Amino acid sequence: MDHLTILYRGPLASCDYDCPYCPFAKRRDTTEQLRADRAALERFTAWVADCGHPVSVLFTPWGEGLVRSWYRRALTELSHLPHVERVAIQTNLSHRVDWTADADPSRLALWATYHPGQTPYDRFLGKCRDLAERGVRFSVGIVGQPEHLAAARRLRADLPDAVYLWVNAAEGRTYTDAEAADWTALDPLFHHSRRPHPSRGLPCRTGDTVVSVDGDGTVRRCHFVPAVLGNLYDGSFRAALRPRPCPLEVCDCHIGYVHLEPLGLYDVFAGGVLERIPVR
Ligand code: SF4
Ligand code: SF4
Repeated sequence: MDHLTILYRGPLASCDYDCPYCPFAKRRDTTEQLRADRAALERFTAWVADCGHPVSVLFTPWGEGLVRSWYRRALTELSHLPHVERVAIQTNLSHRVDWTADADPSRLALWATYHPGQTPYDRFLGKCRDLAERGVRFSVGIVGQPEHLAAARRLRADLPDAVYLWVNAAEGRTYTDAEAADWTALDPLFHHSRRPHPSRGLPCRTGDTVVSVDGDGTVRRCHFVPAVLGNLYDGSFRAALRPRPCPLEVCDCHIGYVHLEPLGLYDVFAGGVLERIPVR
């Protein structure tokens, strides 16, 4: 196998933040659920360590992973494995970032999201500056809600120029050209997020060189298509890997459409597809 990209989402569904647009806001996992999430993550990490071919991993937990020691440990450990090309996680950056000092910065990356109203602006900016000083690869983004525009402008002005700030179109929202221009001034790639991408019948790398894995090892092509390709741990998914068209009408999430071939986003984000860092 040349290289496999894996999006991993275990059972963890709790978050320390309370975003009004999120179903996982301030949810709590029971001790039992946390134990199961940890066991699933450790099993997955062990599989990656032994898989015997190049691999890249993006952790996309429903909730916040980095407040849990086992996610920080998984990222650190995987970053030191020579066959792991990139290991990244989506995070709200609420936790301190000093753990990154133990990871290999040539492989580790963070996809950070700023949620205005959940954390003081200066605290979030301080975390970003700390990461930049440590030489950690990361992107920073925000949901493009009108009430976030001022904070997004301030963040863009305060972040180091080399840090990419992405803007996600708010779900279900239609942007006028004037509104889109405001967001595009902050994120020159906003047009990719502005509208869902028609995808039915188009070639998408998921199910071939990219897969989604859950805590039980169930393998699907992506987080959005429920059909099961097999299981990671018994190896049954491998026989199902092949190029295949998208079966859904639209793809409207970056972690999906970045793999949709006609969009050409592997060129735009070369070297940073998982953590959403474009080529400069
Ligand atoms: S930080 Fe992310 S997971 Fe947590 S409540 Fe906000 S949107 Fe949801
Ligand atoms: S285009 Fe999106 S929804 Fe369709 S298969 Fe690819 S990632 Fe999944």
